Amino acid sequence: MTTGTAFVATCDLAAQVRGRAIPVARLARTLATGVGWVPADLALTCFGHLADDNPFGSTGDLRLLPDPAAGVDIPADGDVPGVRLHLADQTGMDGAPWPGCPRGFLTAALRDLRESTGLEIRAAFEHEFMLDGPDDEAPFSFQRLRAAEPFGTDLVALLESAGLEPECWLPEYGPGQFEITLRPASALVAADRAVVLRELVRDLARRRGRHATFVPMADPGGVGNGVHVHFSLCDQDGTPVMYDAAAPGRLSAVAAKFAAGILRHAAALVAVTAPNPVSYLRLTPHRWSAGGVFLAERNREALLRITPTVEIGGARPAPQLHLEYRAADATANPWLVLGVLVRAGLAGLEKDEPVRVWPESATEADLAGEPALPASLTRALAALEKDEVARGWFPPELLDAFLAVRRAELAEVAELSPAELCRKVADVY
Ligand code: GLU
Ligand code: MG
Repeated sequence: MTTGTAFVATCDLAAQVRGRAIPVARLARTLATGVGWVPADLALTCFGHLADDNPFGSTGDLRLLPDPAAGVDIPADGDVPGVRLHLADQTGMDGAPWPGCPRGFLTAALRDLRESTGLEIRAAFEHEFMLDGPDDEAPFSFQRLRAAEPFGTDLVALLESAGLEPECWLPEYGPGQFEITLRPASALVAADRAVVLRELVRDLARRRGRHATFVPMADPGGVGNGVHVHFSLCDQDGTPVMYDAAAPGRLSAVAAKFAAGILRHAAALVAVTAPNPVSYLRLTPHRWSAGGVFLAERNREALLRITPTVEIGGARPAPQLHLEYRAADATANPWLVLGVLVRAGLAGLEKDEPVRVWPESATEADLAGEPALPASLTRALAALEKDEVARGWFPPELLDAFLAVRRAELAEVAELSPAELCRKVADVY
């Protein structure tokens, strides 16, 4: 784009993309020195109010420093002008990383993983959302796909032109529910894509006079909208290290230890990956979200699922085998989600802890003894505060702001019925 505006943005603790627009003509200068930003912005709740007991107050200044590699062009559409959306790191006035920055949290976790193990992460976020408007109820059907047109075709084209590498677009199980998957990418790129994808979906729906929501549950008795995080480990040459044909679940020792760390810290993790009160209406058994804290081959009730591999035409399983974390949703910041998964996995590698791999044949009765996830956000937050290792992953101001935002959101919805809660949160996400 040579004219128009660029929106330089961060994604905050309520997974809201916030920032400032500049004329595109100033982009080169802005890439060098950023635009102004305010620490207390990190304390905004999803409902748009500042959490009272936040650590920042009215003072301080930051820069939103755009990552030159993290910009996408949204083309003009009818009367609506195009815009360049540029994701940014939050820095001090001297360009030093600001400890409160969620994107910096992921960058630091990836750096520590690399420095202590030589490993890298590849990831892909799988998103579900609900689209209002004409809908054919039949799940997964061609009719349903066509009833949503031209939205689906326009969305796939938009994602392709923005470089998000869409892989699959499908009518999902719930009424009005759709799913979109993207190709795997290096961890930071994958998380950036998740931030951008949600905006592109909602923006396109708005422009078409429709409403798309990623709310974890649109109504208390309905079907959940999940965000499943697919990830694998590879070495510095890009060689995948997850696969061992002889091991339980075909999971290599390094992958099993990484998984063990995630299971051990699961209760604290979900406070970050499912951080809204609504999230806990979804994280219950028999929803194919995550029915318990266990690792299993090909089981959609598992917190961590070992995914299948395609071996048609002699395709090799080793580069394909990976893990899928199923207890995230779109109220969570993708940088924090991947960041805490990396931190927990790294803790598992350091502790060298064994993990139980449940085979595909495990029944519900077999799995009954596995721990449940926290039943509410309040319990998940308590687990996070109790888990000294998990608390230690966060710079203090980031953790304090995170907890302040969550408590303010809990207070704001305390009097609502589950149905009212779903509606209020659906309007935001
Ligand atoms: N809708 C389910 C969830 O809330 C996921 C269904 C699936 O794609 O396996 O996570
Ligand atoms: Mg799905």
